Amino acid sequence: MTADPDLYELPALPRPSPREVAAEIAAARAAAEATAPERTIIPEPVMPPLWPHPDSGTVRFPCALDCGWAHSENADADEIEPLRIPLGVSDEDLKRIFAERALRRAAAVQRRIEMAILDHFAAEHPGRRPPEREVWR
Ligand SMILES: [Zn+2]
Repeated sequence: MTADPDLYELPALPRPSPREVAAEIAAARAAAEATAPERTIIPEPVMPPLWPHPDSGTVRFPCALDCGWAHSENADADEIEPLRIPLGVSDEDLKRIFAERALRRAAAVQRRIEMAILDHFAAEHPGRRPPEREVWR
């Protein structure tokens, strides 16, 4: 087997000027600063152990006050809404259908976790609000 000489003759990519590189860095910094972090009462998750551990697939969200309680989320046991795809749907519409479904599912999981935390605080830490933390999306 011989090497294909055409593979070694790649066209040279245009090199950006230092001014273009500086402008790109400035634009990236401005975009990062324009994005504000969101605040959430959902604590840092504890990732599940690997299979075949019986708790594999279950993510735990421990109480931020370290009282020993944790909300458990098993993504595998999550009820998934039926997928409805019209016949003859375009690629763009198919991407949109999956993206919208994923956003609805993520919002439902977030609401479920927040409600579990609020219920826990109402029952076990009355008068206290769950601490918030910043998250970047
Ligand atoms: Zn607690």
